[in-house]
Amino acid sequence: MTKRIAKRGDTIQGTCLHLCHAPGGGPPAPTTLPFHASIHARLSPTVFADGQAVALLASAGENAPRHAPPPVLGRQEVGTILLVANRTVLVNGGPVGADGDAAMTCDEKGAPGRVVAGACTVLVGS
Ligand SMILES: [Zn+2]
Repeated sequence: MTKRIAKRGDTIQGTCLHLCHAPGGGPPAPTTLPFHASIHARLSPTVFADGQAVALLASAGENAPRHAPPPVLGRQEVGTILLVANRTVLVNGGPVGADGDAAMTCDEKGAPGRVVAGACTVLVGS
């Protein structure tokens, strides 16, 4: 099975569970919030796909827009590619990221998000 390679501008998406202050006061309550981060950090410095730097294990981006209401615990709202299962394609000595790979979000229980790779002419096996 092949997947689209992940690159600059592709996203990490998911939902986060956070303890948030209720609007208007009251005790904090568990709240599910969307997570959407454009991947732009820790990309390959030398390998490009369709003109964009390819994403690697540990490539990252910040959640935007930021969570609202803000969680009680002010975790850094960063997504990071975590798992590139059975990847045999290496870039700069590490596995390359691809559509569907697991990614860390700021979820308080550690539930993963997913890499969502856009259109790309470069595919990798998994
Ligand atoms: Zn979050």
